[in-house]
Parts: sequence; structure tokens; C-alpha cells
Amino acid sequence: MSERNIHAILKKYWGYDSFRPLQEEIIESVLAGHDTLGLMPTGGGKSIVFQVAGLAIGGLTLIISPLISLMKDQVDNLRRHHLHAVYFHSGMTLPEQRVAWEKLVNGRVRFLYVAPERLQSRRFLDELRALKPSLIVVDEAHCISQWGYDFRPSFLKIKELRKQFPSLTVLALTATATPQVAEDIRRQLEFRPGNHTFQMSFSRHNISYVVRESEVKIDEIGKILQRTSGCAIIYVRNRKRTMEIAGYLESIGINATFYHAGLSFDVKEERQNAWRRDEIRVMVATNAFGMGIDKPDVRLVVHYDMPPSLEEYYQEAGRAGRDGKPSYAVLLYNASDKAKLRRHLTLEFPDREVIKKVYERVCNYLSIAVSEGYDRMYEFDLDLFLSTFRMQAEQVKSSLAILERAGYMQFIDERENSSRIMIRLTREDLYHARGQSERGDRVLAMALRLYPGLFSDFVYINEKRLARELNITDEEVYQGLLELARLKIISYVPRSRTPYIYMPTSREEPRYIQIGRAVYEDRFKRREHRIEAMIDYAANADSCRVERMLAYFGEPNPTACRQCDVCRRERTKSTRMSEAELYKTVIAYFQKHSGTVRYEMIEVEFADEISRVRTLIRRLCEEEFMRMEGPFLLLND
Ligand code: ADP
Ligand code: MG
Repeated sequence: MSERNIHAILKKYWGYDSFRPLQEEIIESVLAGHDTLGLMPTGGGKSIVFQVAGLAIGGLTLIISPLISLMKDQVDNLRRHHLHAVYFHSGMTLPEQRVAWEKLVNGRVRFLYVAPERLQSRRFLDELRALKPSLIVVDEAHCISQWGYDFRPSFLKIKELRKQFPSLTVLALTATATPQVAEDIRRQLEFRPGNHTFQMSFSRHNISYVVRESEVKIDEIGKILQRTSGCAIIYVRNRKRTMEIAGYLESIGINATFYHAGLSFDVKEERQNAWRRDEIRVMVATNAFGMGIDKPDVRLVVHYDMPPSLEEYYQEAGRAGRDGKPSYAVLLYNASDKAKLRRHLTLEFPDREVIKKVYERVCNYLSIAVSEGYDRMYEFDLDLFLSTFRMQAEQVKSSLAILERAGYMQFIDERENSSRIMIRLTREDLYHARGQSERGDRVLAMALRLYPGLFSDFVYINEKRLARELNITDEEVYQGLLELARLKIISYVPRSRTPYIYMPTSREEPRYIQIGRAVYEDRFKRREHRIEAMIDYAANADSCRVERMLAYFGEPNPTACRQCDVCRRERTKSTRMSEAELYKTVIAYFQKHSGTVRYEMIEVEFADEISRVRTLIRRLCEEEFMRMEGPFLLLND
């Protein structure tokens, strides 16, 4: 069942002719049985790395992945390529889990995605053992490191897997890792001797990084967008402000919308799709926008606020220019931003007494008695909780984050859980079951047309879409589905927007609650270190911004990028080229690229001399030294 030829696998399932940088090296290392860590930037193609590796080894590949939405995307994607994949996460109902197990036991499932918190259950681990996986993959592996910006304690449970399967190769992948985090990943995953690490350069040559000092940021955004063209994302760290900025942009004639986690699933989908199809130019969003978004031609990413770390900044800014064409990453900055970030840090660490109070109140609110609750999930309506106890969202969320790190309770805030249905009858029985609910029959007929696979698994559906296609109301669709469920024709899991609390241990008395140095003081220091690195990136204009960023990511010998605002200023200061020099430089640039250059690259390469270069090129074209063909400039022989 295994196919060793990895090129053939790539071609057969994905239709691609060649691997991207590092993909092949990482796969070969895994096939040779080495534990392997792959550091590749976002969009570098990490999924294909482990998917091809898994297919080449054969059998079942087990993937640990932190987010339900990521898992769902990948599983859908694999199914589209006719590869069997299932997942387990804590938002699944029992019938859903049962269907998944059946598929695993009977089927030809090649990929099993598991949320790390599932690994806390002994039984689940035992059942996994019976499945005899042949490769373990840890996606977004930086989540295992306390040094990383996105530590998730449940990732530490992956160690249990290592114990269960000591002879299996482990492949860990991540987009951002400082040397310290990379080391920590290898240690936490107990990489065996002879392990390999592959690192791709984090530099993105087509992105110009710019920091712009600005007191009235909203005007600045308007100006930047008026001067540039193409698709853009504006990142803001406040939900309300996304709306304000989008409104302002609309008012000055720039096509924009906004996005944050508080919007309904349908609205989010609709806006995301409109932006993806270029019906909307500018998306003003919180960091909820981005995971799994793969639009290649984003020309501009502006940060209205500083993220709390360079890792996050790099990830978000890196959504620009996936297609390799010239793009901009602009950070708007003023002196008050520093103070804001530092203040935010103190909010993230409430007093220990407050944390304990939150623990008590959450347990009371969920009616969990002392010494009860072990390994259970509870629906948890945060907003209702906040209003019941008149507490501040920030304080409660920060407390919950620390309680999670201390191992007491886990707040799982995935509001993306859309509706699922599965048909419980065979095709033939379904045929005979018609006529009991007229409304239900119509809805189901449409669902069968829109969504394949309804007979064999729970499939995500969208009631709004069904309503639109059928030209009826959402409510009618909902009622139709309910009737079918009552008739036991389908299983229906309506979407839920309620987050969960998971209890990894039973409820403790307050005096036994331990919030140790490791989860409090040590972590505070690390957060501080990251914030200071971010501030340094913005406030310090003494050296190339990219060089400093790459040094922070541990890249050996980073060099100046020549296109960030600092580099540009340096260049205009030191080199005001003569006409002859300019001519020589431009011609040399063309010769270096075999006489053919995309016009946009000229704009980037010669940004600080651009008006003179434009004039020069116009002259060279008139004199027929050069010619324009579509987007390209060609040097005539
Ligand atoms: P990452 O997880 O590293 O952020 P993904 O795995 O989501 O990136 O891949 C990003 C995109 O690149 C996907 O659309 C994927 O199909 C595409 N891709 C990956 N590898 C290749 C390849 N060898 N050739 C062409 N496209 C690829
Ligand atoms: Mg990925």
C-alpha cells in the first residue's frame, strides 16, 4: 500500500510537478527514519510535506493539530483528493465520534487528525495503539514550547504518544521558531539521536517592510490605500475599531469590510469569500482573520496596532505577497503604542487571588462539585458568565489562560463549529422513507445535491446556503432538518457558538490551587522579552528591520534587505547616483535577469530612485533599447 516514489505521489494526488524548497529534503529525512523538525514559513507547504511522507510510508498517519478549523480544512481538502481522513476533537458529539471510529477500524483511512486534548484520555491512547499508526506528525509544533508565543499545555500530552510508540518516527512542523523554541520542540518531543532539522530562510524578498510614525493612524491608512492598488488587509487589535475603520474607508470611497471572531459564522464566510473573489478590496480585521487563508495576491498588510510579538507580526505581515510579487508590510506606530503593549502585559497576569476566584466562580457556575468534573466538557457561555458575576472579560480570559497552564481547566473558544448532518439510512431505505415530511424532503434533496458523502459521514452544511438555493427562509430549513432528525432519517448537529470548559482534573478546593512560578513569573518574563523585541523592531531605526527580525528568528548571518524604510533612507542618503551610474545599474540589473524583468520588480528594486528610473526607462523604450511586453520589460539585443 505504500508508494515510495514521492514525486509520483505528489503528481498523482495533487497534480503538482515539483516540490517546493525543503519539502523533498524533509520527506526524505522522514522516510529514512529520522525524527525531523521542519521550519518553513506560512504558506511554504507544510501540509503536503507530511501528507506525502505519510502516503510514502503507508498505513495510517497520525497528526496532532491544535485548531478545529485547521483540521476541518485539511480533512475536507484530503477528501477532495480522494484520500480518506478523519479527525477527533472535543467539539464532536458521541455519534460523530462513533462514525469516525467505524471508519478508522473498517476503512482505508490514511490520515487521522487529533486535537491534543484528546490525548489526555487513557482510553483514547489505548484505542490509538490498536490502530498501529506508522508516522506521528506534530503540526504547529511551536505550541509545545513554553518559550513560544502560542504555548498550549495540552501539547505536552504528545509525550505520551512517544511512550506508546517508541519506535515511530516523529515529524514536527512549524512556521515560526526561534532557536530556543526549536531546541525545546526537539527536547519535548524526545527526538532520538540522529534527528534532523531543516530550516528555510525566513526572509521574504518581495515584501518591503515599513514602519510609519503616525499620530492619526486612520488618516494614514486612507492615504496609503489611495496611493496603492490591490488587495489589502488591515490588522487591528480591537473588534469595534475594525468596524470604524472599514466605515471610514468606505466613506472616502475605498471598498472595505470588517471581520472579527464575534461575527456570526455566515457573515464571516460571506465576507471572507467576497474578499477572496476581489469583490472587496480591503479587509479590516482582528487576528481572527488569517488562519488558513491562502490568497496569493495580497499586496498590502497594514498593522494599525502592534502585535505583542515579532512572531505574530511576521505571520500576519507574511500574508502579503504569497505569489512572490512586490508587496508591502506597513506598521503604523507612535510613542503611546509602547505603553499600550506594556500595560496589556500586566492585564494578562491578574493577581493570584483573582485567578483563584475565577476558578471558584466558573466551577460554581457550571455546578461542578469539589472532587468532581474530571475529564469532562462543559458548555460555557462566557458572556453570560461575565454579566452574572459582573467581571471584566480581559481579567477572566487572562485568568483562564493561566488556569489552563497550571492544569486546572481549559477554555476552548472555537466558535466556528458549524452544523453537520449525516443520513442514517441506506439509499434504498431513504427512498422508501420519503413523504413523511414534505419540508424535510426538499431540504434533504438539496443537501444531497450540494454536499457529497452524506451517507458515510457527518458533513458540514450551511443552512443559509440551503435556504438560498431552495428560496425559502433559514427557519424553514432548520425546521425541515429537525423533522428529519426526529424521524431518525438524519443525525443533525446544529451549529453551536458556545465555547467549552474542559476539566483535566477534578475540582480542587481553593487552598490546594497552585499557581507556580513556571506558569506565572517565568512566563511573564518571556512575554516581556517578546514585547520588547517587537518594540525594538518598531522604535529602532538604526539598522535594517528585516535583518533584526531575522536575527531574532535565529537566522545565521542575516543581511540588510535593501528595501525596508531604514535601508531606503540609508541608500538615498549615501547614494545619489549620477545619470551614468543609474544607467549602468539599471542595465546591469536587466542583464542579471537575462534581459527580462517584471515591471513591478523595477518599482521595488529602485524604489528610492523610482521617478528617475521611470524617466530613464521611458527614454530607453523610445530609443528602442527596451520594449514592454505585457507586464514585462525586455532588453533588446
Ligand atoms: P503551510 O501549512 O506551510 O502554511 P500549506 O500546506 O497550507 O502551507 O500550503 C500552502 C499552499 O501551497 C497550498 O495551497 C498548497 O496546495 C500549495 N503547495 C504546497 N506544496 C506545493 C507544491 N510542491 N507545488 C505547488 N503548490 C504547493
Ligand atoms: Mg499549515
